[in-house]
Amino acid sequence: VFEVLVVGGGPAGAAAAIYTARKGFSTGIAAERLGGQVMDTMGIENLISVTYTEGPKLAAALANHVAEYDIDVMDLQKATQLIPATGPGGIHEIVFDNGASLKARSLILTTGARWRQLGVPGEDEYKNKGVAYCPNCDGPLYRGKRVGVIGGGNSGVEAAIDLANIVGHVTLIEFDSQLRADAVLVDKLKSFPNVEIITSAQTTEVTGDGTRMNGLAYKDRNTDAEHTIALDGVFVQIGLVPNTEWLKGSGVELTPHGEIIVDARGGTNLPGVFAAGDVTTVPYKQIVIAMGEGSKAALSAFDYIIRTEPA
Ligand code: FAD
Repeated sequence: VFEVLVVGGGPAGAAAAIYTARKGFSTGIAAERLGGQVMDTMGIENLISVTYTEGPKLAAALANHVAEYDIDVMDLQKATQLIPATGPGGIHEIVFDNGASLKARSLILTTGARWRQLGVPGEDEYKNKGVAYCPNCDGPLYRGKRVGVIGGGNSGVEAAIDLANIVGHVTLIEFDSQLRADAVLVDKLKSFPNVEIITSAQTTEVTGDGTRMNGLAYKDRNTDAEHTIALDGVFVQIGLVPNTEWLKGSGVELTPHGEIIVDARGGTNLPGVFAAGDVTTVPYKQIVIAMGEGSKAALSAFDYIIRTEPA
């Protein structure tokens, strides 16, 4: 039985495990893929104090830092079920898809999130070569260039406003016949001279020259006519999905959208169960935020364990 078991091995999980190990707690970290979303990232320029790094390099640095401590690292472990303790101070259990299970006095859930993909030809091929998902991360790479934003909900329209301040021109593409974002955001977007909005448009392909993307193909849903636009990059903003399918029925309280509801200390509704990073209700999904939240949840787990008698 661990004192603390961290589920998920991205920036939030690595930070959480390092913090509890430094408190002298027996700590385990079990993850489907160590490094998390960072493994899918190329240039990272906003991890404060690190001017520039790359995803695989940062993931290796996280693993090295974790390896400095007596932390039981279990990679390629997909959690499928959380069985909470029956009362305060009790033991929680995590079941994995290989049938194994691990027990701990306290849990820190950091299973992250994934950007919903378009699922069209070219999207995978040109990922990080024009196809991007995070405007806060990659927007400045497109200074002065022509970019597209796919998705006219709040996140798409916010992304387009953000990008309109940085890039040369933004084309917002929405599947529906109208934008679904809040009116105040839509009005703000329309006030930019360098923004074009295309509605009733179904993106059918990300085009490229084999090395980088160079545009998009879309179908006008009213006329079925096919169109292409030349673009240097495209930001796909059709949803960020929290990795919490495995928590349904566990008793951990989720929003209707699937995010784990946490308080200011990273606590969930279940005593001894904490959560951090992209998987939670904490806004703005970023590496530096996930690291901070993971550290905070770890300190809360420490506080819980020293104050709670084992059942
Ligand atoms: P994640 O990184 O998502 O890690 C989740 C962990 O949980 C992984 O180890 C995963 O394998 C594991 N997991 C998931 N489900 C299970 C399960 N059922 N059982 C066990 N383990 C599970 N942020 C920046 O600050 N700067 C950037 O430049 C930047 N660029 C990005 C570029 C791309 C392409 C993407 C996708 C994201 C980018 N981000 C960037 C966002 C950043 O990567 C995330 O905010 C950050 O990784 C979140 O950390 P996390 O630990 O909460 O979750």
